[in-house]
Amino acid sequence: METVNQIIHAKWLITCEADNQVLENHALVIHDGKILNILPSDKATTLYQASDIQHFDHHTLMPGFINSHTHLAMNLFRGLADDLTLMNWLNHHIWPAEKKWVSDEFVYDASLFAMAEMIRSGTTCFNDMYFFLPATAKATHTAGIRGHIGITVIGFPTAWAQTSDEYIAKGLAFYNEYKNHDRITATFAPHAIYTETEETLIKIRDLAEEHDLKINMHVQETADEVNQSLAQTSKRPLRRLHDINFVSPRLIAVHMTQIDDEDLEIVAKTKPQIVHCPESNMKLASGSCPVQQFQSLGLNVALGTDGAASNNDLNMFGEMRSAAMHAKLITGNPESLAAKEVLTMATLNGAKALGIDHITGSLTVGKAADFIAINLDTIETLPLYHPTSQIVYAASRSQVTDVWVAGKQLMKNRQLLTLDEKELMKKARYWSQKIQET
Ligand SMILES: [Zn+2]
Repeated sequence: METVNQIIHAKWLITCEADNQVLENHALVIHDGKILNILPSDKATTLYQASDIQHFDHHTLMPGFINSHTHLAMNLFRGLADDLTLMNWLNHHIWPAEKKWVSDEFVYDASLFAMAEMIRSGTTCFNDMYFFLPATAKATHTAGIRGHIGITVIGFPTAWAQTSDEYIAKGLAFYNEYKNHDRITATFAPHAIYTETEETLIKIRDLAEEHDLKINMHVQETADEVNQSLAQTSKRPLRRLHDINFVSPRLIAVHMTQIDDEDLEIVAKTKPQIVHCPESNMKLASGSCPVQQFQSLGLNVALGTDGAASNNDLNMFGEMRSAAMHAKLITGNPESLAAKEVLTMATLNGAKALGIDHITGSLTVGKAADFIAINLDTIETLPLYHPTSQIVYAASRSQVTDVWVAGKQLMKNRQLLTLDEKELMKKARYWSQKIQET
């Protein structure tokens, strides 16, 4: 008998690998934070022993969700201003509130609060764009979650930095500090083409190449963004980005809701990663990301919630369901984005977009033990013919009972193990009172 750290038995196990197998009565064998074996439970019992053996007789194990686009600290602006156009919302509500409140302390408290919400809904990895990156990293380290933290660059001053050069310099210092952290990864995150100069984008392109970092950017999120670009330069944003060799597999193009034939030609050649944020796009009436068209060109499409101020949650169950429904509605075809494809977008495709599919994103021997248990034995999700369909179309985030990242358990039977829920709620009330008083 081989001694390992953990053996987790479950009724169902969804691998989210390319063939997306659903296994019955299997066990996940974990050692040193990695998946050592996946095999039938009865065999696991004869081959392995561990001090931590858990049984989930009514649950499905699957990889944790990867939320491929977040602004975590915006959780404390959730519900502050709703039902507005993107530019009205940004110019008159979000940017003034950020100018007044965003600080190292605010970002730490807000990010930790957001991480509690993510863990409680089965997310094990996020890809963030915000300010005060060390505060987000400190929260990530504490929470035990896996985090990609964007070196945000935006063409106006904030409490974090005054100029694009300062955003980049602070970002590179952050990258150097965290480059050897096993769960925290820096990326570049220029906000959008309308908030950056071409000169800065070229600088970011070269630095990202030099340090091998991904670049996140909101791209063609709204018709206004495209029209403004056409009025100023006679070119659409994607064309301008392509003309400076900015569009490549390194680029994580978020939203992409305003797409014409020329755009499709560009992405077919250059193969950027696409992040679809259906709920944010619907709430702000930004437009529709043509997921099927991108997929038919061989592009990788992942899923993200966007910030909680425009969603208004960090719930990948909602995002999966919205993505599936939205695809069927806009194509007029109910076969579009089947449940198992959406589940892959929320897991493995996120890992591919972030360039970490060799580390996480599926239950595969050798990958990190980043996984969750979902209880499907409830009034809401019985009878259980197909676990994948039930997860996408019927389950809610409160059915996630247990969460692990790199083999470390972060939630056990709905209790957070690394974070103090009561304390986080107290902090959220404290900040909301301060923000409301002004
Ligand atoms: Zn965003």
